[in-house]
Amino acid sequence: MTGNDALTSQERYVSLYRRYRPLRFDEVVGQDAAVSVLRHSLEGGKTVHAYLFSGPRGCGKTSLARILSKALNCTDARTGAEPCGACPSCVAITAGESLDVVEIDGASNRGIDEVRELKAHVSLAPFSSRRKIYIVDEVHMLTEPAFNALLKTLEEPPSHAVFILATTEPQKVPVTIRSRCQHIPFRRIPGKDIALRLSRVCEKEGIPSEEAALWELARQADGAMRDALSLLEQAIPVGSGSVTAESVRTLVGGGSRAEMESFVALFRSKPEEAIATLMESLQKGASMERLVESLFLIFRDLWILKTWGAKTLESLELSSEEKAFLLEESSLWKLEGLRFSLENLSRMMGRLRLGIRTDILAGLLLQGLRTGQPAGGLPLETSSSPKAMASTASGGETASVSEKATAIVPSGSLDQAAIRQFWIHLLESQDTADRQVAAALSGAVVREGEGEMIVDFAGKDRICFELIRLERNLKRFTTCKEESLGAVPVTFCCMGECLRSGEGTALPDPVPVGENSNPAPWERRKKRTHQIEKEDPSFPVAQEGEGSPEGERQTTALDEMIGWFGGEVLLVRQEDPEGTASGFEEGSASE
Ligand SMILES: [Zn+2]
Repeated sequence: MTGNDALTSQERYVSLYRRYRPLRFDEVVGQDAAVSVLRHSLEGGKTVHAYLFSGPRGCGKTSLARILSKALNCTDARTGAEPCGACPSCVAITAGESLDVVEIDGASNRGIDEVRELKAHVSLAPFSSRRKIYIVDEVHMLTEPAFNALLKTLEEPPSHAVFILATTEPQKVPVTIRSRCQHIPFRRIPGKDIALRLSRVCEKEGIPSEEAALWELARQADGAMRDALSLLEQAIPVGSGSVTAESVRTLVGGGSRAEMESFVALFRSKPEEAIATLMESLQKGASMERLVESLFLIFRDLWILKTWGAKTLESLELSSEEKAFLLEESSLWKLEGLRFSLENLSRMMGRLRLGIRTDILAGLLLQGLRTGQPAGGLPLETSSSPKAMASTASGGETASVSEKATAIVPSGSLDQAAIRQFWIHLLESQDTADRQVAAALSGAVVREGEGEMIVDFAGKDRICFELIRLERNLKRFTTCKEESLGAVPVTFCCMGECLRSGEGTALPDPVPVGENSNPAPWERRKKRTHQIEKEDPSFPVAQEGEGSPEGERQTTALDEMIGWFGGEVLLVRQEDPEGTASGFEEGSASE
């Protein structure tokens, strides 16, 4: 190879993975149980002739097999179970030049001929060491005749031979083979161990790195240190010599944890902007699978945190920044909302495999997340109607114009959390009187004025405005409000007409109205109520078919409505078989 410059430079370049491969037991990351078993057997002189190392790819099986090989052949006894790394045997094995350690790839040497050859080789004495060690990788790939030949060897191994069989799928290794081996299961390396290892490697290499970036790489590697180091290697040039969240994002093509965290927070507070960023990510080529997986994990973590509290954070594999995000974000979500989001995302995962167009998937994703949206802004922030708030309180939809509302709300002048609590209490109350108030407020929009709360009714909700003005409803509302909010003034408005609570301008409960007045619609209604009560025994609704089945049905429905509205029927639609009447009749009954 001398004189070949290209090859020489190739030889000089050693990948991070190979450079940082563990050479001693105490350098192995994330496989404490396996290491401990092997150390103990070495220390106690109880090594066996065959080991089966099983575990996910890239988790260190081959590296540990080499360390075990060195330990078995090390000529320096002073270091105990740990190979010395300096004796000729250790040096040769580390360099991959030992004639007594044979590595075989089971995937490419899977036939009976190869195994027969191996068998012949095994019978020969070691070249320069105590033991001859065969490391067979991907052993589950061997053919059945090859397994049978291997089994013969394992049944009567020469005393100098040691087999280390490695596999990602131990269940595919015949039980006859497995039963001849000491089975050592390896685990997927925990993300925190990988992240820590990556940060050590960066330190040693003098490469600046961001914690979140290393965590993202660790997550991408999914328990495989080999993959993590190779990703790190790729991320360094992308970040021009440093490992940043941005370079990792570029490398993995969008959908990183950090990116999706911002998406979740943005979607909660400013959905319009969140949608734009999602579309941009997809445009840039982020895969929908990755976006959905990242989102699912974030919602899973939020849900776990919300359900079982902060102590669960320790069992989640997250950087300190990510933990801080979860703590803050989870306080802004309702448990139900998180559950809905998780359900919708898991449904999305099934759809991802159906080959649906990305833009359609994006639509489904947004729709699914919207269903699970949190009790987003406060009522003031969102200008949301109490009805919308009621549904968010139980995990339903929420109004989403927080941006606009944030502009309206002078920050800190009112205690918004208390105001929200007050609304939720009112809307969820089982008390009949509260329910009447809640029903009256169901169409209103709440916003903040100059140090006061304004409850706005649209023109079509005039009737609700009237309802809340009724003395007892207003009184009830005021009592509730004072219990939760104290003296915060409240003004009810409808089409320019305003009523300030507690200023004695409430409408009295229905009273007769003079004959000559020009009454407002509700006054006309009150007048009629009064007349019906006093003079007309045949109440307009019940008069049709009194005693007839229709009449009974109508009365039952009416009773129910009266139950709900506390004795007032404000609008009753009457059937009009001839089609002559307007179809509406205002009527009222009192308690
Ligand atoms: Zn040694």
